[in-house]
This record gives sequence, structure tokens and C-alpha cells, in this order.
Amino acid sequence: MTVNVGENAEKIRTEIEEICGKINRDPNEIKIVAVTKYVSIDRAKAAIDAGITHLGENREEGLSEKFAAIENDVTWHFIGSLQTRKVKNIIDKVEYIHSLDRLSLAEEINKRADKTMKCFVQVNVSGEESKQGLTPDEVIGFIEQLQKFEYIQIEGLMTMAPYTSDEAIIRNCFRDLKQLQLNVQALQLSYAPCKELSMGMSNDYKIAIEEGATFIRIGSSLVGNEVRGE
Ligand SMILES: *Cc1c(COP(=O)(O)O)cnc(C)c1O
Repeated sequence: MTVNVGENAEKIRTEIEEICGKINRDPNEIKIVAVTKYVSIDRAKAAIDAGITHLGENREEGLSEKFAAIENDVTWHFIGSLQTRKVKNIIDKVEYIHSLDRLSLAEEINKRADKTMKCFVQVNVSGEESKQGLTPDEVIGFIEQLQKFEYIQIEGLMTMAPYTSDEAIIRNCFRDLKQLQLNVQALQLSYAPCKELSMGMSNDYKIAIEEGATFIRIGSSLVGNEVRGE
């Protein structure tokens, strides 16, 4: 089966508009991050040709390889668990880090950055053991400790919903993240405006949009998955 990235992008954009029309959201609030971790440079380029301007990778190696090969002016996102020792290799390439989940990582980002780094605090809303991120209870205290890091800006919160066909579980997960965002905003910290919500992937982005996502991270439904031969 061949993947038509242009058609996929168009389909997703149409869906965004339809959902936003129903719930009275401005579709421009929602940015598509094409997750290219399972595809070639050519597929990533096809996404760019389809008008996608945000690309995301979850490993340092994948990011560095695609960053070197893609000359277009795109905004890079690091979306995977980030080892402290790899920060120096990605820091000048990415504009957003979606996986801030510990102080040692914040410290390293702050040390290596020479400009403000836009970070998302990753939250394990569902409490699954396999998932990265802080527990919801830890988030406020964690963010309060970031004040001393002059180059860290908390743009928002990020989560991954459980992989399930039970929509209610997914929706609750996104709702909880939204509520947590409001709690962070209420602190009125200059370094943590927390305006964004990074949530929603191929199988659940529609629910995420309904619940307030501003960055949806889409891999297989947009660019396919060449590891699986798709
Ligand atoms: C792989 C990945 C995605 C995209 O997954 P798809 O299901 O292929 O859309 C989104 N976010 C993160 C953190 C990922 O690792």
C-alpha cells in the first residue's frame, strides 16, 4: 500500500476544521507535528511538500540525521524521552522539547542552551507504568522549581493517552491534562505561561482537539510507518 502524504495531510486538516467548527475553536490554534521517527527522509520531505512546517523525532540519532538532510525552514520538536547526555546534540536543532520530566534534565537544557528553550512538561496522566512523565500531583511543585533556570520556558504540558479503544478513558486523560494546565496558568509564573497542550496521536487526535490540544503529534496516519511496511 502506498502512502499519500499530501492526501493524508489534507484529510487531517479537513477534520481539524470540522471539529473546530463544531466546538467553536479557531482551527489555526492547532498545529500538526509530523512525527517522522518511523519513516525515511523522503517521507519527511513529502510532509513538508504537503505544507507541514513542524516535524518531530523521538531519538537524537533520527533527529540529527533528518536535520542534516532537510534544508527547508522547519520547526523541529523533540518528543521522546531524552537522555541528559544527548541534550547537547539536539539543543541547537530543536525549538520545542516535549519531554521535560526531571530536574536534572532541566539543568542540562539550561546549561547547554544559549536561547530560551520552549519546553513541555510531560505528564503521565494515566499512571501506566510503561509511560514517561511526572504524576499529575508532581507537576506544580516541579514547575515551581524551574524558576532558577533562565533559559527554560514552560510552553505547556504534554501527555500520551493509554492505547485503548475506550474513548472515555482517552478523553478523561486529555481533560485531566487541560485542568492541570489551568492550575499551572493560575500560578502566573512568567517562565511558565503554559498556553499549549501537546496531546493526540494518530488514533486519538480528534478527541485531543475536542479537549483543547494545540499541538497534535501525528506519525502513521500522516506519513505512514515504513518500519511496518506502510
Ligand atoms: C511515535 C509518537 C507519536 C506518533 O505516533 P502515531 O501513533 O504514529 O501517530 C506521537 N508522540 C510521541 C511521543 C511518539 O513517540
